[in-house]
Amino acid sequence: MNPHSTATGLDGSELLDLTQHEIQALRTRFNLADAHTHQRQSAAQREIVARLPELWYEAEEGLQATYEQRFTEAFFRLHRQPTALAKNKTLLSYAASISTMVAGMYLKQHRKSVTLVEPCFDNLYDVLANMGVPLYPIEESALHDPDRIYAELKRNVRTDALFLVDPNNPTGFTLLQYGRKGFEEVVRFCKDHNKLLIIDFCFASFTLFDPDLARFDIYELLESSGVSYLAIEDTGKTWPVQDAKCAMITASDDIREDVYNLHTSVLLNVSPFVLNMLTQYIEEADQNHLASVREVLTLNRESIRKALDGTILEYQEPVAPVSVAWAKINHPEMTASELQQILSKEEVYILPGRFFYWSQPDKGEAYARFALAREPRLFAEAMVRMREVVERHGR
Ligand SMILES: *Cc1c(COP(=O)(O)O)cnc(C)c1O
Repeated sequence: MNPHSTATGLDGSELLDLTQHEIQALRTRFNLADAHTHQRQSAAQREIVARLPELWYEAEEGLQATYEQRFTEAFFRLHRQPTALAKNKTLLSYAASISTMVAGMYLKQHRKSVTLVEPCFDNLYDVLANMGVPLYPIEESALHDPDRIYAELKRNVRTDALFLVDPNNPTGFTLLQYGRKGFEEVVRFCKDHNKLLIIDFCFASFTLFDPDLARFDIYELLESSGVSYLAIEDTGKTWPVQDAKCAMITASDDIREDVYNLHTSVLLNVSPFVLNMLTQYIEEADQNHLASVREVLTLNRESIRKALDGTILEYQEPVAPVSVAWAKINHPEMTASELQQILSKEEVYILPGRFFYWSQPDKGEAYARFALAREPRLFAEAMVRMREVVERHGR
């Protein structure tokens, strides 16, 4: 195989980002590419689906503001964020990318440059870069020692803003493993050096009910520190609701009006039906400690750990049990792009690591990402297929 060949779409053109890969993967039998939720409904979730007509008519009758309020309260209650709830200033949108665009518009409008964590989901880089925001990388490893975070940020962040993803997609790294200290150090640095702190919390639900990763009241820390911040939250990667979703952005008071004005230039409201439905999923999750979401991921995580054991793919143990797995390729010649092509010929679609390393793609050729939010039986079949293919390339 030509080591320089790249994956192509239906018309033979090169695939330029992860989403273009994910679109191809949607046509593939074993799609392990996008991190959207493709598993079936749990028993408790099926009961919600059975009530959809009722939820529809209810949403037709009530006030938009009522469904927004109920949704936001349920969400921040599940996430144990009383300060966010009390501040009552969170803005809702239909996708995290829309919230990120609003953050990008704010940055562009105020001519602010950004330091963005690497690796991370390329959509964040692409949205900001396409909006003309100057971007510089900081390696995630700069955050790996809580005693060094402040010094590492001081050494690496020369821009007006710092953009982190916690837990990170694809690695599952989270500052929550250090209790309050990790976020405190980040906030202290940003406050001392007048940096706007932007945090993408879209994967935060995967830390809930994990005894080692208690999500303390992060908004209390942000608010009491006086730091300028934008915090993005999301439901999109958590529940299997066919991409009906709601994202949120919360801004510190100093920039809140500017952000509000940008937000209203983009949208009026999220569908009250979607909000009403999501509220049911959130409340069920709160009652059952997110069991239906976490059980699927735990099964599939075990399944991939076993499938990769003893192969050239080394499973990377994540700090937070996120909905994607990240593996290192231990092979002198095999790149992630090649692996992706070999596997896609066998109907297994994975994502090559190069896109997550947005400033130095070649570094990502040593990694691959696998989505776990899949029906466990299908995922197990994919793992059998993947192991067969990978074993041909040694151990
Ligand atoms: C998926 C994802 C997004 C974007 O979500 P959309 O619903 O596709 O807009 C943003 N941040 C993270 C960490 C994600 O995983």
